[in-house]
Amino acid sequence: MKRLSIRARLTLWYTGILAATLILLGGASYGLLMRGLWQDADATLEGIAKSVAQAASGRPAGLIPPGMDELLRRFFGPSFADRFYQFLDPRGQLDPRLPRFGEEPLHISPNALKNAAEGYATFETVSSGGRFPVRVLTFPVMQDGQIVNVLQVGMSLEGLYMARQHFLWTLAALVPLAVVLAGGGGWLLARRALRPVDQITRTARRIGAEDLARRLEGAEVDDELGRLARTLNEMLARLEAAFAQVRRFSADASHELKTPLTVLKGEIEVALRSPRDTGEYQRVLGSVLEEVESMARLVEDLLLLSRAEAGALRFESTPVELDRLVEDVAKEGEILAREQQVRVTIQTLEPLIVHGDGPRLKQLLRNLVDNGVKYTPPGGQVTLALHTATGFSAGAGSGPRHGSTATPQHAVIAVRDTGIGIPPEALPRIFDRFYRVDPSRSRESRSAGLGLCIAKTIAEAHGGRILVQSTPGAGSAFTLSLPLSA
Ligand code: ADP
Repeated sequence: MKRLSIRARLTLWYTGILAATLILLGGASYGLLMRGLWQDADATLEGIAKSVAQAASGRPAGLIPPGMDELLRRFFGPSFADRFYQFLDPRGQLDPRLPRFGEEPLHISPNALKNAAEGYATFETVSSGGRFPVRVLTFPVMQDGQIVNVLQVGMSLEGLYMARQHFLWTLAALVPLAVVLAGGGGWLLARRALRPVDQITRTARRIGAEDLARRLEGAEVDDELGRLARTLNEMLARLEAAFAQVRRFSADASHELKTPLTVLKGEIEVALRSPRDTGEYQRVLGSVLEEVESMARLVEDLLLLSRAEAGALRFESTPVELDRLVEDVAKEGEILAREQQVRVTIQTLEPLIVHGDGPRLKQLLRNLVDNGVKYTPPGGQVTLALHTATGFSAGAGSGPRHGSTATPQHAVIAVRDTGIGIPPEALPRIFDRFYRVDPSRSRESRSAGLGLCIAKTIAEAHGGRILVQSTPGAGSAFTLSLPLSA
């Protein structure tokens, strides 16, 4: 369903409310005006009737004082023509001796006559046969408690009707005019107010994946639209960062895969160049397999990281005996270390259980121990320790230890080596993806710079942290804290 634009809806609402208000106001004014006019007409008639009755009092019944005619004419004023009066005898009959003025004699209604006989005045609206009805007051003229005459004073309601018509015409002309003017004004105002929205829409439409650096204008204004622009700009900034990360990621990934692929291609080409004996083929295939395995590991690591980044990393949560895990990894590390004449030993080992993904935690610890062995020269050693600690040292990565907050007990696994250490300026970056302090050295050892990044991701997914302290030339200490199972 196609909806009206906000501008049209705003204008319609605005105009509708204004029209309703004007109509209500007009109706109320009309009611008040009509009431005033009727009251005025009746008051005029009553005033005249009372003066005449007063002038007639004290005179013999049926006798109207001389000059009364003149008095009445003066009362009725210039518009005398549409007014009339007549005196009737107490029975309501016309008496030629009594003064009257007006075109047609008026017949008194039985109700008015009855009221007059009881001493009450009666107001009536009667149609005169002319264009406008006539308002008539029937008034008893009393003397000594006796009714002597019945006085009828009447005036045409033309003035009142004309005033009413005037008023209605004015209303009928002014209300639509006001509504049209207000509607036009409202439309212009709405357009003005919504112009920034149109601008935001246009700019937003122009922003594609390629120019995410673009920002919407008007974000500095502190109003609803400014806030909208700011929110969208923040979203764009996040998108830009995400896109940049994706781009960097794929560039790095392809770069990392390119090297082993080139090596593979070279080895295979050389092997195919001429016929070889079985032993030679076996050697080449063994080397190829090694290369393929290293690539598979890399791809797996990349997958894990991209899943973690997308928030799609699902870990199992089963009880993991950390002491056994540390022993296993130490044993594996020893085999690797023996070749390099590095010793791997366990210092302390408390039996501790955490909840988590056993194989992933093993991968984490293996990365730390492998690094320790890899970056320790022959004769050095790598030590492992597992114990509990209260509190949590804030901030994975580098830098001085921050004050720890008192939290429930944690399991701490420390991996210390007497290796080459990490320069202070590199410390903040070693947990970054693909970061290597010395890329040339790492190329030999086939390290992609993903180990610590993965370790950190796994630790954080378990609610844990990794901390590092290092002295170049003296060695490094990586401390992993994991919340203990209740
Ligand atoms: P890599 O696969 O290169 O070891 P990591 O992410 O595991 O990648 O480590 C990143 C970088 O941090 C390494 O290239 C290395 O320069 C440095 N590093 C990691 N652990 C140690 C350590 N125990 N001693 C010295 N340097 C280390």
